Amino acid sequence: MPSSHRRLLFLSTPVGPLGSGLGGGVELTLLNLSQGLRARGHQVTVVAPEGSSLADAPVVGIGGQLQPTAHTQGRATPIIFPADSVLENMWRYARQHQSQVDLIVNFAYDWLPFYLTEFFSSPVAHFVSMGSLSDGMDGAIRQVAQGFPGRLGAYTRTQAETFGVAEAFEILGSAIDLEQYEFCPFPGPALAWLGRISPEKGLEDALEAAAIAQVSLKILGKLEDANYWQSLCQRFPEVADSYLGFLPTHGLQQVLRQCRALLMTPRWIEAFGNVAIEALACGVPVIAYARGGPAEIVQPGKTGWLVPPDDVQGLVDAIADIDRLDRQACRHQAETDYSLKALAMRFEQWFETVINPG
Ligand code: UDP
Repeated sequence: MPSSHRRLLFLSTPVGPLGSGLGGGVELTLLNLSQGLRARGHQVTVVAPEGSSLADAPVVGIGGQLQPTAHTQGRATPIIFPADSVLENMWRYARQHQSQVDLIVNFAYDWLPFYLTEFFSSPVAHFVSMGSLSDGMDGAIRQVAQGFPGRLGAYTRTQAETFGVAEAFEILGSAIDLEQYEFCPFPGPALAWLGRISPEKGLEDALEAAAIAQVSLKILGKLEDANYWQSLCQRFPEVADSYLGFLPTHGLQQVLRQCRALLMTPRWIEAFGNVAIEALACGVPVIAYARGGPAEIVQPGKTGWLVPPDDVQGLVDAIADIDRLDRQACRHQAETDYSLKALAMRFEQWFETVINPG
């Protein structure tokens, strides 16, 4: 047990309620982290958009308009706030309750919380969940790096490097609740693809590789970009049958564990890729473009294959080599590298340095 039990206030992503899938992997990270920290005796209050659910833990739901997602906008897009913004309302709550907590932790990839850092009397730390996407956010992150060293956290080194101030970041990784994922030694013939259905995730490459390799693909995830989905349906008519919708964790792992491998085909620098460690936990190897987080997770030749980015034929060749990978080793990697306890301890150490700097 840690020496001090802390009172922590977590401010969730403002792009969607927790449980909706609109927030992507940070939703699972927030759930896992708050569970891991509570198990170590800390008091965690999660503030999130109204309608949020976080397993059986209570959430302070806040009303207001959702923020647009950063990855759907261009680099030069100005900072945008809808009227009655949920982000503003969440940070008003944080200001009103700051004297009751030891630390406020921001999980929003948005300008406002970074800007507000200096105006709070309680310390504010920021967990950054994506790589560099806009000039506005880069500037806000750099300001915190300069004014409040030690207050920035990221999933991976590669992700932190996209901001040009990698040394300012604490690298924290991710984790999963291993008990939620059942190991499956004998899969069926299909491959899996999991994620938000949005252009930066590159689903078309997975579809093309599966078609060339003549294997079926099971697709799970939030349908985020309707126009992109339409274009996929036109190009790959079979995609509608392969798409199984957005499933909660239990259903997700039931499908995933029966697959021979997970394909990850990001066009962007994937900050981490929670789906990679969910696959490993089920004993499912990961075939990924060597771009961002997956390149720091996959152990080539053992728990997956890394393929040169955007190389569809490379995916096809890796699919032909799946049987050289070891499903037991996948589960073992998830158990050793990505446990909830290890994640909670990394965050705990980081939080202590923020609460008691120097
Ligand atoms: N996910 C889910 N149900 C689905 C498909 C995906 O809950 O049917 C979740 C998955 O568990 C993961 C998240 O969606 O936590 C995707 O996160 P990832 O880190 O892979 O990518 P991001 O969306 O953050 O870019």
